[in-house]
Amino acid sequence: MEQYVDVAYSVHKFQAAYAGMIPVITYKSQWSVVEKGFKLLPPIGKKRGLGRQRKKRVKGCLERSGKATRQVTCKGCGELGHRRTSWRCPLSGTKKRKMTRKTKTKKGPKKGADKEYEPAPASELQQQHLNLHQLHQQQQHLSLHQLHQQ
Ligand SMILES: [Zn+2]
Repeated sequence: MEQYVDVAYSVHKFQAAYAGMIPVITYKSQWSVVEKGFKLLPPIGKKRGLGRQRKKRVKGCLERSGKATRQVTCKGCGELGHRRTSWRCPLSGTKKRKMTRKTKTKKGPKKGADKEYEPAPASELQQQHLNLHQLHQQQQHLSLHQLHQQ
């Protein structure tokens, strides 16, 4: 056994190490003040944001992400992509939310909803600009007309 384990790990050495007195660490207030000759300021680095820090390593395209992805099957209708209790299920009784994309359903006047579509009162400058634009277009049209006639 002695030929495999170093003498430093022996019981004798352990006892010898703790034979003397180990002084108790004093409190911060009892520490001796050292004259450094300069004032040490806290680090100026950016403060870390909330949450887990982003890893610097960029994962390769062949590496799998840690998140497990599995498509769920609805036990009610058997379709993939939603659970039985989901609002997506056509068999679920509650129709609290309905998927409406770009199809507007009139549900009476809603405050602020129609305001978006009202043309904003154009300022005088804008109006002038518009008039100029129209004039320009008319001139172009006229010149084209003349060209055709020639
Ligand atoms: Zn379903």
